[in-house]
Amino acid sequence: MNAKRRPIIAGNWKMNMTATQARDLASKLIPLVSGVKDRDIVLAPTFTSLQTVAEAIKGTNVALAAQNLFWEDKGAFTGEISAEMLLDSGCKYVIIGHSERRQYFGETDETVNKKVRQALNKGLLPIVCVGELLSEREAGKANNVIDRQITGALKGVTAAEMQKIVIAYEPVWAIGTGKTASPDQANEIHAFIRQKVKAMYTAEVADWLRIQYGGSVTPDNVSQLMAKPDIDGALVGGASLKPESFAALVTFK
Ligand code: PEP
Repeated sequence: MNAKRRPIIAGNWKMNMTATQARDLASKLIPLVSGVKDRDIVLAPTFTSLQTVAEAIKGTNVALAAQNLFWEDKGAFTGEISAEMLLDSGCKYVIIGHSERRQYFGETDETVNKKVRQALNKGLLPIVCVGELLSEREAGKANNVIDRQITGALKGVTAAEMQKIVIAYEPVWAIGTGKTASPDQANEIHAFIRQKVKAMYTAEVADWLRIQYGGSVTPDNVSQLMAKPDIDGALVGGASLKPESFAALVTFK
């Protein structure tokens, strides 16, 4: 962590919980984190729970994110959700390009970029996910993959818009596997991303950019990860599904 950057901890609930269960989780979480003032807390329920969770967190220090959006404004795109719909449901953030979307739903650097630009145009704050596969890491190509994903995702994004973006580094081999990147391994890629953003924009833009780590973050390993200078928060899957464990994560020391 760097004192200049405000940490951001987000829970990605993925395709879990009905709206009733989601409301219950949010309501239990709020009193556990209500005293947290020095970091951003974000919940990303599934689309059908957005409005319910928005009501549960109204007036609190917890913000709402969607897990995806479509890049067109509206129209004949059966099954898709627009930025306007997300804003109307109370979203502030939107997760874009999660590795599960890339892996199972054919998202590419190009579609990720279209979504990033649509989110920015409409006033949503993108949490842009990047990360290498295990085979890519083993082949020594992690940096190349991250370089390509960052270049692709940020095409046409201005320096001013970069202030609205959060990057989440999520090595695919660490997501939901219980295998966390070591704090040094994670920080190395975070520093690489910051250097890359510095080269694309300015040192100032790179300095302010918040980069979350994601991949089997738990209350047990969060503090060591967050102690690293280029890690500014966490994107959390499994451990965000229980109020106590997510609260323990959010309140890391
Ligand atoms: C994620 O899906 O973004 C994630 C990091 O999941 P988990 O924490 O379960 O590894």
